[in-house]
Amino acid sequence: MSVIQDSMLAILRENPGHFTAEQLLAMLRRTHHRASPATVYRNLDIFTREGKIRRVALADSPKFFEGNLTPHDHAVCLHCGQVTDLIALKGLSELVAGNIQGELISTDLTVNYICNDCAGKTGGEYH
Ligand SMILES: [Zn+2]
Ligand SMILES: [Zn+2]
Repeated sequence: MSVIQDSMLAILRENPGHFTAEQLLAMLRRTHHRASPATVYRNLDIFTREGKIRRVALADSPKFFEGNLTPHDHAVCLHCGQVTDLIALKGLSELVAGNIQGELISTDLTVNYICNDCAGKTGGEYH
């Protein structure tokens, strides 16, 4: 692994949350001032393929990357795009397994909602 790859992995593992490639580039440039977008994109692809990080694809949003490899699902606010981890959806796999014909491999659930901050700001537009 190169120094820059080490730094990228460290950023993802030490910062809980979900980051776009652009945000990761900005974070990386604090220590590697000349890091290029191409380097960041290439390494994010490699890390995702190798299972070192997780890529989270959400409708209508840029792709996010995260270092948290514990299985979990996501809730995204449709207004501000804030992504929240859903850790405790126990029983989801069993529910899904009962509704498909075949063997369940994995689930990747996204819950779309309007967060309380946005619900206040929009004056009930979504209700
Ligand atoms: Zn919101
Ligand atoms: Zn997550």
